[in-house]
Amino acid sequence: MAARRKTLEVARRDERLVSVRGRKILVADDDQLIRAQVREALSGGEYGFVECQDGTEVLSAIRQHLPDLLLLDVEMPGLGGVEVCRIVKANQGTSGFGFIPVILMTARRTGKVEGLELGADDYLIKPFDMLELSARVKSMLRLKALQDALVEKNRELDRANKELEEKRRELLELSRTDGLTGLVNRRHFEERLVAEFARSDRYRAPLSCFLLDIDHFKRVNDTWGHPFGDLVLREVAGVARRALRDVDVLARYGGEELVALLPETSPEEAWRAAERVRLGVEAMRLTAQTANGPETVKCTVSIGVSTFPGDTVDSAETLVHTADECLYVAKDNGRNQVRQAG
Ligand code: GH3
Ligand code: MG
Ligand code: MG
Ligand code: MG
Repeated sequence: MAARRKTLEVARRDERLVSVRGRKILVADDDQLIRAQVREALSGGEYGFVECQDGTEVLSAIRQHLPDLLLLDVEMPGLGGVEVCRIVKANQGTSGFGFIPVILMTARRTGKVEGLELGADDYLIKPFDMLELSARVKSMLRLKALQDALVEKNRELDRANKELEEKRRELLELSRTDGLTGLVNRRHFEERLVAEFARSDRYRAPLSCFLLDIDHFKRVNDTWGHPFGDLVLREVAGVARRALRDVDVLARYGGEELVALLPETSPEEAWRAAERVRLGVEAMRLTAQTANGPETVKCTVSIGVSTFPGDTVDSAETLVHTADECLYVAKDNGRNQVRQAG
């Protein structure tokens, strides 16, 4: 039912768009009698009229009245119909006048080809055959109405395309984002890893990676509750993100583990970056609300760092795997520390 109403609405709108009733016609002739004749011939059409006596007047009247059709006398003092036609057709872009059909009117038969070559859409020879005049005007107004409808449709399509593009971008963003931390997710990390590894391999630039795991996170959850654990996770993600460069990829790897990919980063630089993150987390102070009032909570992280090319690192997989092994060494050695391969 709603779809049917929509179809009807569209049909009505289309009908209105191509209807020639109420359309505005600009008649330019230095002879007042001719202008009156034209209006008389078109009097049954429910058109609006704008009258001009010469070409200069026409140009300003177009801007003021936005007519749907120009009926231009070829011979007028000053700017004649052919010149006006040339100017109008040279400015038909959407930033100019837009498309306005032009019918040239002349007593001379010789100017016809010239007028059409300059882009006039039709031609009338004086004295007019009133029926012919009326028929040609109607046909030009239809052309204009269809053109207007086309322009409007194109605008709608442009708008729809822009919206689609926007939605596509939003979806893409969502599909690569981790909801809790706002970091990119593991899937996106894997994609970037493949690309960055290939780039690094090709240009012989070092590529570093680190894996971070929050220490005793189970205890955080058990002591202050899961929602507080979530908050800690978000804060650690924020500290790590701020400690890295924009070109570094930082992703949530899983649970309470983050992974970072540092392009063009030597082992020494990667170590420093990991230390910055570790110290940043260590300095963090969060407040948990407990039955006994607010409590300050501290936490630490362990980090394993690896770099390609390296002793045990010759592929994207071994890059991450080595960082993981170093992370476990850091855990075994008492946590809150950075461990590095090699
Ligand atoms: P370790 O120092 O050895 O890493 O100890 P741990 O307690 O951090 O390690 P373990 O792997 O035993 O526990 C990880 C915990 O992280 C268990 C899990 O419930 C919790 N966790 C994983 N994802 C989330 C999350 O999204 N939110 C919260 N609040 N907890 C999470
Ligand atoms: Mg004249
Ligand atoms: Mg873990
Ligand atoms: Mg942990």
